[in-house]
Amino acid sequence: MTKLMILEFPDPRLRIKAAPVEHVDDKLRRLIDDMFETMYEAPGIGLAATQVDVHQRLLVTDVSSDRSAPHVLINPIILEKDGVAVTEEGCLSVPGYYEEVERANHIRVSFLDRDGESSELDVEGLLAVCIQHEIDHLDGKLFVDYLSEAKRGRIRKKLEKERRHQASAAL
Ligand code: ZN
Repeated sequence: MTKLMILEFPDPRLRIKAAPVEHVDDKLRRLIDDMFETMYEAPGIGLAATQVDVHQRLLVTDVSSDRSAPHVLINPIILEKDGVAVTEEGCLSVPGYYEEVERANHIRVSFLDRDGESSELDVEGLLAVCIQHEIDHLDGKLFVDYLSEAKRGRIRKKLEKERRHQASAAL
């Protein structure tokens, strides 16, 4: 398995809207395995293909603390959502920042599993929030988009500055 590079805000590639997966094959399953490894090593609880510069509708999650609840959702579609959950969210593409975001507390979502079979999940709480966050990535949307423009601008400036420092240190 290979650890993949995660794009970081404000990289414009994070704004690309992902296309539906057409074939669930071994190549896609290798990508899924690599995405799990990348997510676990980061560590994170969710990763969308968009974040590793693959613009197909695919996400992985595991909100457990011991890697016991992995989920793969290919071409996910939210069928129902209700309730309100306000969660302090972070994102592997916005490292070091955590802000409260309001989303639905319960969702029902349809998707293809890693064998290409149709499946559904009916979930609430953190897993529901995580899936909504990752589907946003597939639509080119980030959690910082829910914040004020001023706050988003401050985060962007700080991350750009940190990256410039890293770049010069690498020379
Ligand atoms: Zn994210």
